[in-house]
Amino acid sequence: MKKFLLFFTLITSMLFVGCDNIMPTFNEKTMETYKIPSKEVLTADESIKLLKEGNIRFLNDKSIVTNVSSERRNSLRNGQYPYAVVVSCSDSRVTPELIFNVGLGEIFDIRIAGNVVNSDALGSIEYAVSYLNSPLILVIGHENCGAVEAAYNNVKHNVKFQGNINSIIKKIKPSVKETNSLDEAIHKNVENVALEIKNSPIIKKLVEENKVAVKTAYYSLDGGVVIND
Ligand SMILES: [Zn+2]
Repeated sequence: MKKFLLFFTLITSMLFVGCDNIMPTFNEKTMETYKIPSKEVLTADESIKLLKEGNIRFLNDKSIVTNVSSERRNSLRNGQYPYAVVVSCSDSRVTPELIFNVGLGEIFDIRIAGNVVNSDALGSIEYAVSYLNSPLILVIGHENCGAVEAAYNNVKHNVKFQGNINSIIKKIKPSVKETNSLDEAIHKNVENVALEIKNSPIIKKLVEENKVAVKTAYYSLDGGVVIND
């Protein structure tokens, strides 16, 4: 009998609540001021403003479900206009769409452990800025990065690693050699990756033409992102 009552209550409550209330709801007040990126090309400054606003929502536990609806998916069916290329670590705690509280079609993601780039990653970035008109490339490092820590332990304490992890370590090593702590190495690595990106002839030209900006950032695991000028 108890089981029947529980089932009955569940079914009737579902009927009264209706589907709309089960689905995630939007914060209408926030949505009023939230500019949904469209086909118009934003500037790097406008792009940074959107990312900062999204991070503040995330940091304050005010994230909204945004730009994932069927309407949004259909609007992106024939093209994408991501206003930021974000080069971040593969770390499961540093997912760009979550920490910047954005949806589909907003961020063009490049993710390799240690937020390093190789020729494939550079090719992906070049594609985004050349063919999708993304105005911003943001390289973001983060607190307690395991990849940088591996490189740090390799350089400072001669800790050995196996396999292709060494390919990533090799890229981060120069940044570690220039610094005296893990956090310093994380910051230096972000700077060096940004320099490597700026050295791509395609990107260099777009930067000189003021069509693209390359910026650096740091994510603290408490949720805050600092985007450097
Ligand atoms: Zn990391």
